[in-house]
Amino acid sequence: MLKVGLTGNIGSGKTTVADIFLTLGIPVYPADEEAKKMYDIPSVRQKLTTRFGRGVMKGSVLNKRALAAIVFQHASDLKFLQDLVHPLVIADYQAWQKKQENIAYSILESAILFESGLISSFDKIILVSCPLPIRIDRIMLRDHACREEVLLRQTAQWDEESKLSRADFIIENSGRLPLIPQVMKIHQTLEGKD
Ligand code: ATP
Repeated sequence: MLKVGLTGNIGSGKTTVADIFLTLGIPVYPADEEAKKMYDIPSVRQKLTTRFGRGVMKGSVLNKRALAAIVFQHASDLKFLQDLVHPLVIADYQAWQKKQENIAYSILESAILFESGLISSFDKIILVSCPLPIRIDRIMLRDHACREEVLLRQTAQWDEESKLSRADFIIENSGRLPLIPQVMKIHQTLEGKD
């Protein structure tokens, strides 16, 4: 079974594309979503409050927005968070991957496949591409976030330009081209049916 990585910078449309693959019956592991679930593990929460203080908690749950406001300001804090959570997500993904059967390929979706160095673990990479101004507008709308907040989240990500040449497939999602035919074409290639 092929291991496929689905990536793209913030707001490019990864989850929208992943949902199309899911409707085609392709299993998708949403790594960034799964990473957030790791914050519920008591030992992880303990390490986060020790490093960042009680301000990252809202009652007994982690305040992800407060945590994001801290870690996207300082590279060393982001690295601390990633070093804490990434090994747990990778282990969980590997266990998930072993359970996938009778399928030509499975997908892991993450915004930071290139930045995390995970890229080399995949047979094929799909990059969802969209110009930054459109991505900012879409995220502001989706998350009720201000422009500065979106730009801050984007700073830790590499420029899309540097990823384009390293992707096996590029999905153009500026709104100019419909998504479904682009996904279908990739799906047929990955299934070996074109
Ligand atoms: P993140 O990096 O935050 O995880 P993402 O890359 O997964 O984001 P999506 O959540 O799929 O991006 O899309 C961002 C927003 O843009 C969503 O509200 C989605 O509905 C919208 N969107 C995605 N593609 C299109 C499109 N082609 N036309 C209009 N809106 C779109």
